[in-house]
Amino acid sequence: IVETRGLVKTFGDVRACAGIDLTVHPGEIVGLLGPSGSGKSTLLRHLNGLTRPDSGYVTVLGVDAASASGRRLRGLRRRVGVVFQQFNLVGRLTVLENVLSGALGRVRGPRYGIVTWPRAVRAEAFEHLDRVGLADRAYQRAGSLSGGQQQRVAIARALLQRPELMLADEPVASLDPETAGSVMDLLVRVCREDGLTMVCTLHQIELALQWTRRVVGLRHGEIRLDEPTHLLDAVRLRGLYLSDPVTVP
Ligand code: ATP
Ligand code: MG
Repeated sequence: IVETRGLVKTFGDVRACAGIDLTVHPGEIVGLLGPSGSGKSTLLRHLNGLTRPDSGYVTVLGVDAASASGRRLRGLRRRVGVVFQQFNLVGRLTVLENVLSGALGRVRGPRYGIVTWPRAVRAEAFEHLDRVGLADRAYQRAGSLSGGQQQRVAIARALLQRPELMLADEPVASLDPETAGSVMDLLVRVCREDGLTMVCTLHQIELALQWTRRVVGLRHGEIRLDEPTHLLDAVRLRGLYLSDPVTVP
């Protein structure tokens, strides 16, 4: 569902991605780990065409994400749901309006307002709000919700896109540990329920061990580790973060 070959991306003299070969299969829940600056976000941004590689191949959902532009790129982005650390909701709009905006790619809808959306889309939005446990907050301003609730809204918005691939960049990094756990639980659960593939960058080893099925470890823009989560432990994962050269297991 995702395939990169020899992906290289350089910013000035920083090699953010230094030749990445990554294959993700349908239905996988993959955690991307690595120290700050190891290239996690940059790699993720290549997967919906937000960044283009200097060289190498990126194929996502059968689309060449390295060269797609215009309609093809918009078509790809529509099929890829994204969840960010900062939620990226429009705080002055209601929860429901934020969720509905997830359908903008596939349904002709208004930029704002609720009543003008097709009834079926509104019903679908409510379904997803229900799944994330916030149906009773539909008409509240998104900005008035807690961080965890806002991330739940962002997840509902991504789901309304009916994506085939979910990308999450540090989705729980700005939440307290307890909320982080419950949001990860939700994210992984909805992906499983909908048969979605997910690639998720995480700061915390413990979260990766608990919620992912496969861990890809980056360091200096290279993949240093790629294994099923059940074969890993925290000690080995910490090796990724040590300053010494890491031996590839
Ligand atoms: P973090 O854990 O802090 O989020 P990361 O693993 O996501 O780190 P990236 O954000 O991918 O790391 O950055 C990798 C390297 O590329 C860093 O050295 C960063 O400074 C650099 N970089 C990323 N984006 C840009 C940009 N738009 N312009 C210049 N340098 C960039
Ligand atoms: Mg990052």
